[in-house]
Amino acid sequence: MGLPYRRCPLLLPSSDPRAFGPLLWDAMHVLAENYPECPSTRKGRWCRRYLFAISHMLPCRACGRHFRKYLREHDVWRAVETRAGLVALLVGAHNAVSAHARPSRAPFTVEEAHVLYATAPATRPLAGVWGDEPYVGEANPYSFFQGTKRSCAQVGMRRWRRNLVGVAGLMATLISPSFG
Ligand SMILES: Cc1cc2nc3c(=O)[nH]c(=O)nc-3n(C[C@H](O)[C@H](O)[C@H](O)COP(=O)(O)OP(=O)(O)OC[C@H]3O[C@@H](n4cnc5c(N)ncnc54)[C@H](O)[C@@H]3O)c2cc1C
Repeated sequence: MGLPYRRCPLLLPSSDPRAFGPLLWDAMHVLAENYPECPSTRKGRWCRRYLFAISHMLPCRACGRHFRKYLREHDVWRAVETRAGLVALLVGAHNAVSAHARPSRAPFTVEEAHVLYATAPATRPLAGVWGDEPYVGEANPYSFFQGTKRSCAQVGMRRWRRNLVGVAGLMATLISPSFG
């Protein structure tokens, strides 16, 4: 019988921006919400590549061009250095499209985006979690950086010091007389 007309979802080709748009925005906002507060340079580089890759993969060429233009006009390198930067970049990019596609909508703030994307509906019954460790169900594993809030500069310094100690340890092992 199908759903009553008013509740039946409108089916569009998945290449239509009004069809893929909400799905992709949701995915990107969820990734941003769960991005590390202070990502490593490597992760930042991957994130930047991901954003540009998405712009080339959108099934609407004009949409890809618009998104790329937005990324180029905003400091993506800087944005991917922090979670707050990435969230703001994506909320801004989404607002920029909505200004044309839904001019009556008020721009979203980053706080509103946080409320929307900190949690997500799940299908029931819940699936298992296939991962490396038992899943503890932490709301956001990156929210609490070892229990204390540190600036990204402090986190970077700690990472650098840890790597330096690792390299020094390795060199000490290699040059110690007992080696070999
Ligand atoms: C990268 C990309 C580029 C696009 N470029 C174009 C384009 O050039 N031209 C075009 O016509 N369409 C484009 N689209 C599609 C367009 O953005 C909308 O998805 C589409 O018009 C459907 O709009 P909507 O109002 O139904 O939902 P959407 O605008 O997709 O919004 C879905 C939900 O996201 C939430 N939301 C809305 N705004 C924000 C925000 N700023 N921050 C956080 N959450 C928010 C709301 O809960 C909303 O219900 C693009 C989509 C993507 C992913």
